[in-house]
Amino acid sequence: MSKAITLPRFSVGVGDRFAHQAKAQLVACMKAAEAGVDVVPVWNKSNREHTIIGTEPSQTREAADTAVKELNWKEPYFVDADHITLKTVERFLDPCDFFTLDVAEEIGRAARPEDVETFVLRHAELIGEVRIPRIAEPFHTNVEFVKGVANKFLAAVQDAGLIYRMLVESKGEGKFVPEISMDETDSPQTPVELLIILAAIADEKIPIQTIAPKFTGRFNKGVDYVGDVKQFAKEFEEDLAAIDFAIKRYGLPENLKLSVHSGSDKFSIYKAIHEALVKFDAGVHVKTAGTTWLEELIGLAEAGGSGLEIAKEVYREAFAHAEELCKPYATVIDIDYKKLPRPEEVDTWTSEQYTSALRHDQTNPAYNSSLRQLLHVGFKVASKMGQRYLSALEANEEIVARNVTKNLYERHIRPIFVGR
Ligand SMILES: [Zn+2]
Repeated sequence: MSKAITLPRFSVGVGDRFAHQAKAQLVACMKAAEAGVDVVPVWNKSNREHTIIGTEPSQTREAADTAVKELNWKEPYFVDADHITLKTVERFLDPCDFFTLDVAEEIGRAARPEDVETFVLRHAELIGEVRIPRIAEPFHTNVEFVKGVANKFLAAVQDAGLIYRMLVESKGEGKFVPEISMDETDSPQTPVELLIILAAIADEKIPIQTIAPKFTGRFNKGVDYVGDVKQFAKEFEEDLAAIDFAIKRYGLPENLKLSVHSGSDKFSIYKAIHEALVKFDAGVHVKTAGTTWLEELIGLAEAGGSGLEIAKEVYREAFAHAEELCKPYATVIDIDYKKLPRPEEVDTWTSEQYTSALRHDQTNPAYNSSLRQLLHVGFKVASKMGQRYLSALEANEEIVARNVTKNLYERHIRPIFVGR
């Protein structure tokens, strides 16, 4: 068998709703290389986004391949079937080489009692005083606790095993990067829970290369982190330690790393992430969400004329259909409706007023996080405009691309991976 596909130490998940910005995104990775840090791109687009826009994963693959070819990118790159389940995986099979197995829905479904029993008997090391190298204080657990965690996660991990084996049958072993995601669930997983979950994943023989836990705090789409940064930093470091331990103890892949489903723009924790990566000599995969689409809007607004008109029209429609647009994202957005300007007001805005409200610059008093979140989920409006929207992107390619690259590199890649 040829060498298994492996995800390098640093990777960034980039979303590209309309498959027009792959090149501009790749340029951001090239800038990282120029700064001396290798960061590989993973184009991710979930089933939810494909369904809302009416696109196919094969289009994401095509856009990625084209960008890589045109820019002569020699490093690895991937196309991620983000948040798929057995029900939705089919159309991702061929175009994707990275699969994010979403088991959030199964979390909490009680496992079979005999499976829980077997798990607990098999993992005496997880009961009592659990010492993980590089975590100062040992964790204290007991049989009841481990049983409780197993009960909550075992069925989900078994479900991931089903999807994984189906993927192996379809694509071949080692032909794709498997990730397990548990981020779109109600409560965060503690580092010791993560360790127990990793033990279960190893038992299920899923050679995951990334795992996406739910971290403490709010990860709303397109806006900054809401939570205790210190607490996040502590848990993030403990997660790194737990992963390191699990690799050695349970024989999980050497390159296993955390995947942060950031929902984009968690600026206030980027420093903590960077420092932890240096301290632990660890890797990370950070998925940004579809904020590239917001950079498209910013570019169009900045261009003025018909570009600005389209940006205003998108807002007007998004405002009118706010409830419907927000529904699929209910758990990951927090919009204060009172803070949304009336479309009539936005219609009078200059390019600068529009971009100041939308661009994620917290030092700008005109920045409006509610407007930003609404537009973030408003891509359906642009997809309904169809060719008119795409033609505007093409007509304003340069100004849009400049915003996409700058945003991805300066606001995300540089603080997380380069650290300066
Ligand atoms: Zn996610």
